[in-house]
Amino acid sequence: MSSVEFPVTRKELTLIGYTHLGESGETSIFKFCVLASGSSANSALIATEKTRVLVDAGLSFRELCKRLAFIGEQPDRIDAILITHEHSDHIAGVARFARRVPIPVYLTRLTAPAIEWDGRMPRLEVFQAGTRFTVGDIEIDSFTIPHDAIDPVGFSFRAEGIKIGLVTDLGYIPDSIKFHLRGSHVLMLESNHDLDMLKVGPYPWAVKQRVMSRNGHLSNDVVGDFVGHEFDSGTATLVLGHLSEHNNHPEIVRMVAQQALDRRGLATRLVVANQRDLGFRFQVPGVSTPKPST
Ligand SMILES: [Zn+2]
Ligand SMILES: [Zn+2]
Repeated sequence: MSSVEFPVTRKELTLIGYTHLGESGETSIFKFCVLASGSSANSALIATEKTRVLVDAGLSFRELCKRLAFIGEQPDRIDAILITHEHSDHIAGVARFARRVPIPVYLTRLTAPAIEWDGRMPRLEVFQAGTRFTVGDIEIDSFTIPHDAIDPVGFSFRAEGIKIGLVTDLGYIPDSIKFHLRGSHVLMLESNHDLDMLKVGPYPWAVKQRVMSRNGHLSNDVVGDFVGHEFDSGTATLVLGHLSEHNNHPEIVRMVAQQALDRRGLATRLVVANQRDLGFRFQVPGVSTPKPST
């Protein structure tokens, strides 16, 4: 299985995303860090002070370790890997990672046999798309997404009173997904391609059709339409990722989404993630959960 490595400078990697939650004068941390995002490799870290999970492992084991080290995390302190679907940009490093660091891999029953485990099978925790489960103190909802994989899913994560939604690799945004993403303080969404660039770009026609199909990937325009109409105005940070390297440009992604936010007068922080760096840091101001009166 091919593995992906990119030259990444220390400066880029020291910038990480995390969320502070002020509650009763304390500060808890629910960290969200995109380790890589794009059509070549995807991986993100979601962590509380007690629990750390990787979502997808599309980088090589070595590259994942390197990027984790840059943000002060150690591979052997990761508690689990969650897999969205079996495409290699999401799973290229999972078999090796789960062999070297014996942690469970959470994935759907249909996705498990679609991955080459290269020898010894890691501990698999199989879930049904649409169900809720917990890893440590993080509550995780899984939901089906429309994509040309066997049983692809998106996730939302809840801990410390914060909700993080994460969905990439989808051909359109059905109502069921909009429902799952509502109430996210941080939302990571795919903004894969610019339609005009895709049409004149280097891909063969059959691949272009696949990308544009309802089981393909989201265009910037579809994301702009969602942000301009149905995107939850309470979402403090919107991270756009899984950009196509050939058929998109970060500045177009930013412009389309920012215009949609501006039309609604939303001050949502916009972040465009990419393949090489983790160049963003964000904070969601404290969301205080009132203590129930007894
Ligand atoms: Zn992908
Ligand atoms: Zn995919």
